[in-house]
Amino acid sequence: MVNFVGGAWSEPRDPLGTTPILDPSTEEAYAEAPISGPGDLDAAFAAAEVAAPVWGDLTPGQRSRALLSVADAVERCADQLVAEECRNTGKPRRSMAVDEMPHIVDVIRFFAGAARLLEGRSAGQYQQGHTSSVRRESLGVVAQITPWNYPLMMATWKWAPALAAGNTVVLKPAETTPVTPLLLAELMAEHLPPGVFNVVCGDRATGAAMVTHPVPSMVSVTGSVATGRAVMADAAAGPKRVHLELGGNAPVVVFDDADLDVAVPRITGAAYFNAGQSCTAASRVLAGPRVHDHLVEALSIAAAATPVGAPDDDAYHGPLNNPDQLVRVRGLVDRRGVKAEVVEGGRPLDRPGYFYPPTVISGVEPGDELARTEVFGPVVTVSRFSDEDEAVAWANSTDYALGSSVWTRDHARAERMARRLDAGTVWINCHSVLAAEMPHGGTRSSGFGTDLSAYSMEEYTRVKHVMARFDP
Ligand code: NAD
Repeated sequence: MVNFVGGAWSEPRDPLGTTPILDPSTEEAYAEAPISGPGDLDAAFAAAEVAAPVWGDLTPGQRSRALLSVADAVERCADQLVAEECRNTGKPRRSMAVDEMPHIVDVIRFFAGAARLLEGRSAGQYQQGHTSSVRRESLGVVAQITPWNYPLMMATWKWAPALAAGNTVVLKPAETTPVTPLLLAELMAEHLPPGVFNVVCGDRATGAAMVTHPVPSMVSVTGSVATGRAVMADAAAGPKRVHLELGGNAPVVVFDDADLDVAVPRITGAAYFNAGQSCTAASRVLAGPRVHDHLVEALSIAAAATPVGAPDDDAYHGPLNNPDQLVRVRGLVDRRGVKAEVVEGGRPLDRPGYFYPPTVISGVEPGDELARTEVFGPVVTVSRFSDEDEAVAWANSTDYALGSSVWTRDHARAERMARRLDAGTVWINCHSVLAAEMPHGGTRSSGFGTDLSAYSMEEYTRVKHVMARFDP
């Protein structure tokens, strides 16, 4: 595996080592990727810098047409992308084909359209005799760094708005999952000028070197809170703009009047999708006093009935992505609070691969490590609250503020909770449902970047005030 730079495959110039690429369902290493060094980053950023005026000077309509042809190409190559993504992540093939690929293509098409729709303040005379207008311009070269949970989807959430806004990109996928971003770069090269989209493989040191590299004027990252902090500190030296999509620990507030026949399958689906390795996974259930016992029982039955397996099995979720993640999830469950009880699951499966079963843990107290930490695995914790104020206090008590949901038949309560929950998204009687048109982002330790929607594209632009006076 090699980098993709300037429209062509590019042998690493000064690699700092290699990373084995594993199949998480079998633990088999089937390829290796370079850990790119400074020379590789210089080459990639130089290619992006040369391409920036070419791509940036196209009209929005021309960029839109190029992105629409990329979307068509991705759709045509969906089978290959699905196969490679599943091998590299262990995701179920059907879910990747039905849930992720259509969304990925839709996101590209959305930003292709959005490229033509940037809106702004009208030109006018804000000082007598002077005409002011605002130009919304691309930033030039953007560095993008992505995680391993949805390698193709997280990359697309980043590059599509950046390119639509007229920037060029150097993207570094997570060290364990570079396969589909590289394939995508090859595919995109047929439809874009060389150097518009470049992919370099590497680890956190490569990522850190991207942040301090002199060429990019913005660094956009999806990853953990620790990574976000490090990136922000490194970017301060520029200073350069940062866009941080970080972790989450979504509260799922189920009131006593919720319709459990609806809530249980939806919560289970949103908790265990992608083995819980989603930043908005429905992981932290807060249950009303009367519904609590019934909910724990129903969630446990649903967890036990959730099939786990390799990509070609008829499974709802696959293994965790890598051995470190298995150790992490296992450790958090094993160190659960003194009052916490494993009601379902709770032990790695006895088979090759990084499999952890759908797990339900009750009796978790808001201060427990398990409640305060993003587990990023197929683990649901349940805590019993006494009233709405306590539910709000517990929901807002972690450092994260990304996804959240409220389950109730009381419309007024749902609206009130939507206001009181400190989160980037509040779902009502649903959870983790995405739309390309709507913003996805968090606050507090979950970061402050927005992915998806026209808001995201604006983040990849700058505004310039032009004031003119032509009369004597
Ligand atoms: P991670 O933070 O370990 O790595 C993410 C990326 O950052 C990788 O490419 C990594 O090499 C790079 N990186 C790590 N340290 C760096 C540094 N100091 N400087 C520059 N780059 C660095 O995260 P992960 O384990 O790959 O992914 C899981 C995390 O991502 C979870 O916390 C999850 O919640 C978060 N995530 C957030 C969203 C969102 O939209 N908010 C979406 C998906 C995942």
